[in-house]
Amino acid sequence: MPEMPEVETLVRKLRKTVTGKRIVRVSLSGLSLRRPVSGTFAAKLQGRTIRRIQRRGKYIVIELAPRIFWLVHLGMSGRLRIHPQSFHCHKHTHAVIRFSDASVLEYRDPRRFGLLAVYEVAKPEQIPEIRSIGKDPLMSGFDDRWLQPMLLNCRRELKSFLLDQKKVAGLGNIYVCEALYLAGIHPSRRCYTLELKEVSRLVAAIRQVLRRAVRHRGTSFSDFIDLEGNPGKNQYYLNVFKREGESCVHCGNAIHRIRQGNRSTFLCSYCQK
Ligand SMILES: [Zn+2]
Repeated sequence: MPEMPEVETLVRKLRKTVTGKRIVRVSLSGLSLRRPVSGTFAAKLQGRTIRRIQRRGKYIVIELAPRIFWLVHLGMSGRLRIHPQSFHCHKHTHAVIRFSDASVLEYRDPRRFGLLAVYEVAKPEQIPEIRSIGKDPLMSGFDDRWLQPMLLNCRRELKSFLLDQKKVAGLGNIYVCEALYLAGIHPSRRCYTLELKEVSRLVAAIRQVLRRAVRHRGTSFSDFIDLEGNPGKNQYYLNVFKREGESCVHCGNAIHRIRQGNRSTFLCSYCQK
């Protein structure tokens, strides 16, 4: 599943590749994604020019005109690909956006949990999906002064809090495991038990793992590829995720895997207290 660094990797490439391009035609598979792609979706895009591309959490917000925003979410398995010209549609291709220079943007999504929608609002923050997401760790305001009071009022396990998109936007399993390892904090700790110095370490660790992942153009195990079809390299730089049985780089003890909720957590139980 693409997490925030993978979406940021796509957004950076998209900005360079499609900003200023005019959309001449939009073709849809007609199949429903997370929800049906509205019948007016294609009509609202056609004839518009891509003005600006932003990221909010794992959402891509493409400004087509003042007050017109195209929202993209990749869900579990969505991919955006740019093609210099016509290409053969894949069976999971659900949207094909043709530009006036003949290049094509393809949206492919085998599991169809993604989202394509157009909103007519003054700014992205008024889009319902964006309004409901939490703070983005790479944007201003994500700091220990904001995070500590939230944690003090929360009795949940820390990992489940960090995965909650309504609290922190864009974090998924990989980067939560990595950040908790870097911060030296056990994923099962109850949120309210964290001391201020631990909250500060956690904030710094989350930023560090995300920035490093963006620098390596995302993490690709089997799925993520960028706009031009290239995998990211961050999987070679992970400390704990999917490294069960390997040695912790700090203490040499074996990395463990535990189940939390429905998902695997990878950790070093010596380094993470
Ligand atoms: Zn260790």
